[in-house]
Amino acid sequence: MRTEIASLGEFGLIRHLTKNNETRNAGTILGIGDDAAVIDQFGRQSVISTDMLVEGIHFDLMYTPLKHLGYKAVAVNLSDICAMMATPTHITMSIALSNKVSVEALDEFYEGVYAACERYNVDLVGGDTCSSKSGFIISVTAIGEVAPDKYVTRGGAKPNDLICVTGDLGAAYLGLQLLEREKKIFLEHPGVQPDLQQQAYLVGRILKPEPRADVVEWLQEKGIMPTSMIDISDGLSSELLHLCRNSDTGCVLYEDKIPAHDDTRAMAMQFGVSVTTCALSGGEDYELLFTIDQADYEKVAHNSNISVVGYVTDKKEGLHLVTKSGNKHVLTAQGWNAFS
Ligand code: ADP
Ligand code: MG
Repeated sequence: MRTEIASLGEFGLIRHLTKNNETRNAGTILGIGDDAAVIDQFGRQSVISTDMLVEGIHFDLMYTPLKHLGYKAVAVNLSDICAMMATPTHITMSIALSNKVSVEALDEFYEGVYAACERYNVDLVGGDTCSSKSGFIISVTAIGEVAPDKYVTRGGAKPNDLICVTGDLGAAYLGLQLLEREKKIFLEHPGVQPDLQQQAYLVGRILKPEPRADVVEWLQEKGIMPTSMIDISDGLSSELLHLCRNSDTGCVLYEDKIPAHDDTRAMAMQFGVSVTTCALSGGEDYELLFTIDQADYEKVAHNSNISVVGYVTDKKEGLHLVTKSGNKHVLTAQGWNAFS
């Protein structure tokens, strides 16, 4: 008997592989199933997360400058640490290299790695290097610290909590569409040099994401403890589904509250897609999605980095998007279903 991986999907596969996983150490406070694990070491708590980037799947070397790639490989891992309300402190960097990659290219890659380490005050403390027959593969493990029991999981949202997102959404998806479009033009007409100067914001969002360590720090300073948190790597709807599933709740999301940059709105028009679809189903924004108690509303209301986009409901009410025209649709991992 043979079961295709595709029949389980990514999350079904992870569940399948880890359903019999046992916890043997008392220090394992939080294991599989969140943005990062939490390990208690004699009263101090460490947060650990790991992520892989694979050439041809996560990045295309035709339009990804290696310096940006190095920066991004670190940044996306730090984002998972931030999503636990923790402060990143260390990373390890493992790389599998094809002979397409030169030492000069790797130097550039590491320039980006070190730039991200400097920017986020993180130490590179190890890794592994080997060869690959299928392109460049990058695996980063990030470690962070958090005051005892001050970490935030995906599982603590409760009905009537407010749903917040940081920054703006959908830009990275459009940045990627732009790069893909320019690549196609370049392959068909090699003489034409792409001019992406005008679209620096969108392209920057896909090539050089920034983890929201700033917002985590601000929340800590203000003493605001979100009830749940996740980072937005796969699109808002998919992350909301994770958050509500882990919290055993439903939610209502308002389309007109979803934050988008002006460049995102303009480019969505050009591509003929809805900005909402870019935010819900695009990915790689690396913003934070979190919930807060209503009592904390006043505290976040004036922070321009934070938008309140909806509220948490009882599980039985399901997950819904209220559109600009006031219609209510069921939210799915792909966005929303116009037929329900
Ligand atoms: P994120 O999108 O935040 O990086 P993932 O969706 O990749 O998180 O992973 C969800 C959870 O499953 C995490 O706790 C992760 O550590 C765990 N996980 C993913 N792949 C595996 C695996 N092959 N074996 C064990 N745990 C895994
Ligand atoms: Mg995550």
